[in-house]
Amino acid sequence: MWNDLDPDVWDRMVSHRRHLHKHPEVGIDLPDTHLFVLQELESLGLVPEFIPGAGISVTIPGTNGEALPIIFRADMDALPVEEASGSTLRSVRPGAMHACGHDLHTAVLLGVAQDLIARPACRDVILVFQPGEESDRGALKTLKHENLRIEVAEVFAIHVNAVMPLGSIGFRYGTFMAAGDWFRLEIFGAGGHASAPEQVGNPIRLGSLFVEELHALAQELSTEDLRVVATTTEFLSGNAVNVIPSRGSLRGTVRTVSQSQREVLHSRMQELANRLERDHELSLSLSITEGYPAVISDDEFMEHLLGLISEQGFPSVQGMQVPSMVIEDFSYFLKRWPGAMVYVGAAVGENPFFNHSAEAEFDEEAMKTGFALFRALAPVA
Ligand SMILES: [Zn+2]
Ligand SMILES: [Zn+2]
Repeated sequence: MWNDLDPDVWDRMVSHRRHLHKHPEVGIDLPDTHLFVLQELESLGLVPEFIPGAGISVTIPGTNGEALPIIFRADMDALPVEEASGSTLRSVRPGAMHACGHDLHTAVLLGVAQDLIARPACRDVILVFQPGEESDRGALKTLKHENLRIEVAEVFAIHVNAVMPLGSIGFRYGTFMAAGDWFRLEIFGAGGHASAPEQVGNPIRLGSLFVEELHALAQELSTEDLRVVATTTEFLSGNAVNVIPSRGSLRGTVRTVSQSQREVLHSRMQELANRLERDHELSLSLSITEGYPAVISDDEFMEHLLGLISEQGFPSVQGMQVPSMVIEDFSYFLKRWPGAMVYVGAAVGENPFFNHSAEAEFDEEAMKTGFALFRALAPVA
């Protein structure tokens, strides 16, 4: 059954998670986290492969060498967010927080490693711990590991979700998560006296129009089944109460599900920038950088996984009507091998704050569901 879990494995998982949560690291270089994971794997007698900036992997052989290997991936990076919680688990590092729950992913996979040593699986399992998921394309670096030089395999990962009911599983056939790109708008002008806004373009006014019109554009291009999201996340300009600034810059992300929507959105954004430039006494430069591809699950793999989920009696499984507008570089793994990612609900009570919020919280009990999904896919021989 799904909740058959060795108490010793569980205790270690919880203590790993708490340690990682208190000591988050952001980006691609995660020296303390790497060391922690390496030491844990080595203490199990494993010989992990470690590439600085590209994470850690380890192959745990199964009892049937003929069986199809499976790759389990966890990400390890945190976010540049100041944690709001007053709990004893709070991050001890100012300005860094495991606000996306990657601490749970890492702890679960360490638990899977411990359990696989005690109860070998029928198939080879390759565990992958990658840095830099949030915006550094860590997956592309991790995919260069020797352990991943395999043509034929399956691949699977979970993502904890701070607003889905604890222990529930959210899945979707086909596109599970959106594709995402990043944009930057630079605004250049002459600057001037705050008393004479009619004489000089104001980057703050133009930037505000851009933010609003971009938001409206995303809504216009959305359909019931295929959403388009455009979110400005950074707006820098000005440094005085009585000076119209000469510069401004905005950054943000756009999310789409269909390639045609993506192309239309990009060209309409450029048109918007051109129009704003014409209407104001300012020069603009808009750049759009290709981000992550969509996370697309394999139908056959998903069918198999849902069969296992129902056999094992997981308490709550929900098919998602529309793709999540989150992006994930696990998509690069799914471009190489068939597999899937699913959400694991980790809500704490009624806390409404989703992943990436300074107020987000993840219930540790969700790790039981995650662990059980991995072990269902790599059952004891
Ligand atoms: Zn995230
Ligand atoms: Zn994440």
